[in-house]
Amino acid sequence: MDNNTTTPEKVHVLIIGSGPAGYTAAIYAARANMKPVLYQGIQPGGQLTITTEVENYPGYPEGIQGPEMMVDFEKQAKRMGADIRWGIATKVDFSEQPYKVWIDDEHLIIADAIIICTGASAKWLGLESEQRLNGFGVSACAVCDGFFFRGKDVAIVGAGDTAAEEALYLSKLCTSVHMIVRRDAMRASKVMQDRVLNAPNIKVYWNSVTDEVLGDHKVHGVRIKNTETNTTEEVAVSGFFVAIGHKPNSDIFKPWVDMDETGYINTIPGTTKTNVEGVFAAGDVQDKNYRQAVTAAGSGCMAALDAERYITAKGLA
Ligand code: NDP
Repeated sequence: MDNNTTTPEKVHVLIIGSGPAGYTAAIYAARANMKPVLYQGIQPGGQLTITTEVENYPGYPEGIQGPEMMVDFEKQAKRMGADIRWGIATKVDFSEQPYKVWIDDEHLIIADAIIICTGASAKWLGLESEQRLNGFGVSACAVCDGFFFRGKDVAIVGAGDTAAEEALYLSKLCTSVHMIVRRDAMRASKVMQDRVLNAPNIKVYWNSVTDEVLGDHKVHGVRIKNTETNTTEEVAVSGFFVAIGHKPNSDIFKPWVDMDETGYINTIPGTTKTNVEGVFAAGDVQDKNYRQAVTAAGSGCMAALDAERYITAKGLA
């Protein structure tokens, strides 16, 4: 298949994105004979490819490396007959059916149904040390990686509900949690703030920023800078968690698909349907609450079933 052609290509079900949601949608759609075409996007395999061990995905009693799990998902989708391709959806036009999606700005696909599984990306501080030690003590998901720091000291950056929730989660596993808050107040809801402030092993550093994550091959500390006093201190920690928010990868859909003010796609509760008939959304791009591989996979399955029902009802099968 030459993907660089300018001639439009007609597909039945187009899946955009390749995390657990996208691959699961592809497995179900392929088994239902809907001949899905899946474009993998900027980060084939999604956020799991930047984690290390995954221990909470059912079916892997010994745990599995995130990248390896995504290779398994891809293999399974291919074995079912899904057409998995490299490429990034760069523009869409959902003004009339069948819908148009441009891949890499040049290849035009026309699809009966579309499943958006473009995920979300964790926001990072932008420090070189943070990037270098990512997966070696630096993480953006306490629920995924907190377990590896049982009985150890950790730091977390952020002051929203996610940071508060993750700090509390970590406080139950770790000896101490050092929470770095850039202002003199937290954005998190009052109840979450109270819980954080009352946790005996969470220490809050107000008006503070991360100067550096310390460690050559794995994290062994963090240098915290107080912006009021302009002083720094080094704290020994084994884990460094960043919880400053996520950005859903939904920009290209903005003109057409309803989303909340932060860019998460709105779906009709209990379904994966968006406001655009025949366009479905699954995984983290429509979920700011759970954000787990298993919940993303579950919603990918739902999206494939919703798409199949839509195609059958429309007589497009
Ligand atoms: P938020 O955008 O609410 O909070 C991000 C936090 O990170 C803010 O405290 C912000 O500081 C801080 N921050 C941002 N950039 C930096 C930086 N460069 N350095 C240091 N700190 C930084 O994101 P959340 O992920 O916490 O929450 C997203 C949404 O999901 C919210 O609406 C939240 O209420 C909701 N949510 C609800 C939950 C629940 O109800 N159980 C659980 C989790 C999330 P500042 O305040 O100074 O801007």
